[in-house]
Amino acid sequence: MRFHPWVFSGAIASLPDSVEEGDVVEVIASDGRFLGYGHYQIGSIAVRILSSDPEVKIDREFYAARLADAFRMRRALGLVRPDNTAFRLVHGEGDFLPGLIVDVYGDTAVMQAHSPGMHFARNIIAQELCALPGAGIANVYYKSETTLPYKAELDPQNDYIVGGFHTNVALENGLKFHVDWLKGQKTGFFVDQRDNRSLLEHYSKGRRVLNMFCYTGGFSVYALRGGAELVHSVDSSAKAVSLTDANVSLNFPDNADGRHKAFALDAFKYLGEMKKGEYDLMVLDPPAFAKHRGAIRNALRGYQRLNALGIEKIAPGGILFTFSCSQAVSREQFRLAVFSAAAQTGRRVRILHQLTQPADHPVNIYHPEGEYLKGLILYVE
Ligand code: SAH
Repeated sequence: MRFHPWVFSGAIASLPDSVEEGDVVEVIASDGRFLGYGHYQIGSIAVRILSSDPEVKIDREFYAARLADAFRMRRALGLVRPDNTAFRLVHGEGDFLPGLIVDVYGDTAVMQAHSPGMHFARNIIAQELCALPGAGIANVYYKSETTLPYKAELDPQNDYIVGGFHTNVALENGLKFHVDWLKGQKTGFFVDQRDNRSLLEHYSKGRRVLNMFCYTGGFSVYALRGGAELVHSVDSSAKAVSLTDANVSLNFPDNADGRHKAFALDAFKYLGEMKKGEYDLMVLDPPAFAKHRGAIRNALRGYQRLNALGIEKIAPGGILFTFSCSQAVSREQFRLAVFSAAAQTGRRVRILHQLTQPADHPVNIYHPEGEYLKGLILYVE
């Protein structure tokens, strides 16, 4: 097993007769060595290891201690501040809680279970989230309708486990964002782009910015604060465009002197039809093109096509932020797709930065699959 937190079903010689999905099981090697305690589930990943300490009990104290560790780390990293109330508190295997995601927005925690074991532990986890000293969590919204294995037939309802009142405005580096965990994608906001948005702010001064796939307008608001000459936000979803407009108004009540405009249009159509040289700073942050391994080839073609359009159309001396959040696509594969896109345009392109997810999305070194966000900042002549 070599410390990797998953046990695949093919590696299991025998299971106790009474085992049920979501149970805590003890994993024993063929030579009788104790390997760990974990959550059992039916499927190719059969056990997700929670602890390799034979003395530990997987009970309320266990979850409380793991959550306290996770919170201590976010605090130590300087992510919990009056001007920064949005952060990921639990990043699954990266916080030794496989199958669990928790994002915090002010006094609300949004929790997602990816395993039946975490689903069954949800009430204890929610109560312990509210008991975390100094975290100020008063509401816990459980949002696992689309994340739990469908075949487990757990029929989870998206709902509050604790509280229900929410202010729904969170702060990221001093900028305000409406976060709609009830209707928004994932937990309502993409906290994973925080550091990359700061970098965009740094490069925005005097530039004409295109934020493609804007969703809630995170990059747009940072670009405005960074002194961009103009910012255009594009998303195919009309809901996303109105969220972006709302977040711009929240931070710049006078719409930053009319510097911002948002459009509900398809990315490929917009990029294909726009004039060359209209923007000198561009963000391409599409949804995951490959949701599973079988879709990698098509996804890479999609990344190549998208980036070729971006590289072709950006002004000379332009800076392009390009991302892939597909876990199934490796850093090398993504880089190769962008390389092919650059070669296709024939322009001179250099890599300025190589980006990833921020520190509140830590990667357990024995679980490299936890690294999913990849980005490149390109300088295009
Ligand atoms: N950059 C955002 C997150 C992007 S999520 C942030 O920092 O928060 C991906 C977004 O792409 C979604 O809002 C989705 O509506 C949009 N999208 C999906 N397909 C699209 C397409 N073909 N054209 C434009 N937008 C698209």
